[in-house]
Amino acid sequence: MTSRPGEFDLIERIRRRVVARGDVVLGIGDDAAILDVPAGRQLVVAMDTLNAGVHFPLDTRPADIGWKALAVNLSDLAAMGAEPAWCTLSLSMPESNSDWLDAFVDGFSELAAMHRIALVGGDTTRGPLSVCVTVHGVVEPGRALRREGAHVGDDVWVSGTLGDAAASLALRGIGSVAAPPTVDDRVADALAARLDRPVPRVQLGRALVDVATSCIDVSDGLLADIAHIARASEVAVHIDVDALPASDALHSAFEDDARRSLQASGGDDYELCFTAPAAAAARIEAMARDARIALSRIGTVDAGAGVTAFDADGRPWTPARSGFDHFAAR
Ligand code: ADP
Ligand code: MG
Repeated sequence: MTSRPGEFDLIERIRRRVVARGDVVLGIGDDAAILDVPAGRQLVVAMDTLNAGVHFPLDTRPADIGWKALAVNLSDLAAMGAEPAWCTLSLSMPESNSDWLDAFVDGFSELAAMHRIALVGGDTTRGPLSVCVTVHGVVEPGRALRREGAHVGDDVWVSGTLGDAAASLALRGIGSVAAPPTVDDRVADALAARLDRPVPRVQLGRALVDVATSCIDVSDGLLADIAHIARASEVAVHIDVDALPASDALHSAFEDDARRSLQASGGDDYELCFTAPAAAAARIEAMARDARIALSRIGTVDAGAGVTAFDADGRPWTPARSGFDHFAAR
């Protein structure tokens, strides 16, 4: 039965599900947490907020919200090549609801356990549904992957497949790509899983520390995100749209033009896009086989500025929409 616990009962429901780590000197319960930062490591910190109706559809299951709130943050650590260690959670909810909270914590803790990240504190308030997570990770000094560092002559790579999350939104009538008239339920479920439960590429990010020259996670759309690498690295990036990887589900549900738009500009995929010297290609392909993750070569880094996309015939290609910007003029 749903109960309406007070703030301290809510915090207790969260506290008893937390991953235990030896480096947490003091976790949830005091005014602040105390952590043993490993000697000789740099701390890497990131924060991302999910607002109801903006970052997830209003009917998203609470367990999926919990998973995704942590996943998008772990994805930022992955993009830096950092190893996750600790996180904090600021949770704003319209009402105290123990069933909702328990389901939320189910999704959050499932992913936290997979990456051994300990929730060490947070804040619980009443307000419109909003979830803000801060993650802390560690990396060998000077080794974190950045957006700057891409060199002329590097290849551009991306992990996994692109466009599924945006495709799932399109099926719900959200975004600029029209949904096909009919879609098989299994296909719709596969696409929805990518939107609701993104898999942060943490192990890949760690492995890339030894080979990538720059890295970013694909959250706003590939072309928009790779533009950040081009700007920070002061280079031009050329993307072959026909080389962008697509899932079988995406191929089966959308015709070529719509599929390309979803892959090139759809957000929420949380794959890693990185650059690496052309000479490292064989090593990266071996890494992909070992990690059982698809890594596709999708473009090149050249002298100049900005991002240009081409199709397989070498014709310039422009998307209908270039990526998500919360404050863009509409
Ligand atoms: P304070 O008033 O000192 O900020 P709170 O009552 O907000 O303390 O929180 C009590 C303890 O519970 C603190 O250790 C805080 O970090 C933790 N906490 C509160 N909300 C959350 C949450 N949503 N997730 C994890 N820890 C939380
Ligand atoms: Mg507080």
